[in-house]
Amino acid sequence: MTLHVAIIGSGPAGYYTAEALTKDRDDVQVDIIDRLPTPYGLIRGGVAPDHQSIKGVYKRYEKTNLQDNVRFVGNIEIGDALSVAELGELYDAVVLATGAGHDRPLGIPGADKKGVIGSAAFVGWYNAHPDFAGLDPDLDVAAVAVIGNGNVAIDVARVLAKTPDEMAVSDLARYAAERIQSSPIRDIHMFGRRGPVQANFTPKELGELGELKECVALVDGAQLPDAAGDDPLPPVKRKNLGHLRQFAQRDRAERKLGLHLTFYARPVEVLGGARVEGLRLERTTVDEAGLCHGTGETFDIACGLVIPCIGYRTQAIPGVAFDNDRGRFINDDGLIAPGLYCTGWARRGPTGTIGTNRSDGIGVAEAVLADVEPGGKPGRPALDRLMKERDLWPVTFRDWKKIEAAEQAAARGAAPRRKFSSIDEMLKILKPPAI
Ligand SMILES: Cc1cc2nc3c(=O)[nH]c(=O)nc-3n(C[C@H](O)[C@H](O)[C@H](O)COP(=O)(O)OP(=O)(O)OC[C@H]3O[C@@H](n4cnc5c(N)ncnc54)[C@H](O)[C@@H]3O)c2cc1C
Repeated sequence: MTLHVAIIGSGPAGYYTAEALTKDRDDVQVDIIDRLPTPYGLIRGGVAPDHQSIKGVYKRYEKTNLQDNVRFVGNIEIGDALSVAELGELYDAVVLATGAGHDRPLGIPGADKKGVIGSAAFVGWYNAHPDFAGLDPDLDVAAVAVIGNGNVAIDVARVLAKTPDEMAVSDLARYAAERIQSSPIRDIHMFGRRGPVQANFTPKELGELGELKECVALVDGAQLPDAAGDDPLPPVKRKNLGHLRQFAQRDRAERKLGLHLTFYARPVEVLGGARVEGLRLERTTVDEAGLCHGTGETFDIACGLVIPCIGYRTQAIPGVAFDNDRGRFINDDGLIAPGLYCTGWARRGPTGTIGTNRSDGIGVAEAVLADVEPGGKPGRPALDRLMKERDLWPVTFRDWKKIEAAEQAAARGAAPRRKFSSIDEMLKILKPPAI
C-alpha cells in the first residue's frame, strides 16, 4: 500500500523531507503544497539576490520534484483555502514546513513609527516576494540603522551599499534596484547588543563587507579585544575578529558610504514624530556567560530608517498547537500530534544554515516512516477533487517552469532572471485549471 504524505511548505525543509521520504522508495507519494505559485521558500525570497551561488541549491530540490512520486502544488494556502484537519483526512501524514516568515517585534517605544521595517518585510521587498512587493519603503534618507549582528543584518547592509555594477549578477527586484540605487543614503549603522566575539556573523559574509566598491566598513578598534587573547576562541570567531581588526584600520576617506559596526549597544527607543528621525541606544556590557547588561548610559543617532534583523516567528495555523512565546509550533522533536509533524524553521525556529534543514528533514522523514502505517487514505486524487470543488487554482511544477522561463527571458544584462512580484502576473501567463 502507498503511504501518502502532504508537506506544507516548499522551502529547503520541505524538499529535504520529501527527498528523505522517497529515497529508494516508490511506495511513498508526496505532495508539497505551498501558498505561493513559486517553490523554494527563502531560497527565492530570503537569500540575498547577489548570492546566486547559494540560491543554486534549488537545483537539488528540482531533482526531487522531477520524481514521479513527488508533486508540487503551488498557490494553495493551508489554514486558509484548506485546513490541516482536512489534509489529515486525505493523507496518512502531514508535515508542516512553513518556515518562520514573520518579523519578531522590536518591542521598544516608537517601534510602530513609519520607517521601522523588519528584515522579513525589507528582504522580501528587495527579493520580489509578493507579500512585500507593495512595501514602498522611503529610502530618501541619509542614514539607516540596521539592528542585529547576524548574516541577515549583513545582507541588508550589503544590498543597500552595493553599486549597480556590483549588483549586476543578481535578481534584485527592479523596483528595489531603482529605489536603492537612487537613494541618498550615506551612513549605514549596524548595532549589536553584545560584543564582537558573540556576534553571529560568518567570516565569509563579514569579509565581503571589506570588499565593497563605494562603501567602507568601519569599527572602533577600542571595541575589539586584544589579539593576544584569540587563541582559545573557535576558528570562526578568530576569523571574524581578523576582519573586524582590518575594518578598524580604515577611515572614511573618499568613499561615498560608511558602514559603521557598533557593538555593545542595544536600541531602547525609536525617536521622531510619526516617522523615524533617530534611534536611542543604551551601552551594554557582556558578562562571562555571554549575557548582556545595560549600563544606563544612552546615546542617539540620527537616521530615517530602522531595520531590525532580530529574528522571525512562524505563522500560527488554526487547529495546530502553537507556542506564542517562542513563535513556533509546539512539538516534541518534530511530532505535533499523531500523523502531524513539523520540520525546518517551523520546528526549531530561525537558526542554522540551509544545510541544517537537511538533517531536520531526514529526522522527520525517519519518524514518519517509523510511526505511520499506510491507512488506505486517498492522497492526491482526493486533494485534486477538493481543490476543484473549492474553485482553487493549483500551480503545478510544469506551470512553475513556465513562470521561471518567463522570468529568465525577461532578464537584462548579466542578471539571471527578472522576477515577477505579483501572483496575478504569474497566473496571467498560465492556463487556468480545467473546470
Ligand atoms: C534574509 C535571509 C537570508 C538567508 N541567507 C542564507 C544564506 O545565505 N545561507 C544559508 O545557509 N541560509 C540562509 N538563510 C536561512 C535559510 O533561508 C533557512 O534556513 C531556510 O530557508 C529555512 O527553510 P524552511 O523550509 O524551514 O522555511 P522557508 O524557506 O521559509 O520555507 C517555508 C515555505 O512555506 C510556505 N508556507 C508558509 N506558510 C504556508 C501555508 N500556510 N500554506 C502553504 N505554504 C506555506 C512559504 O511560502 C515557504 O515557501 C537565510 C534566511 C534569511 C531570512
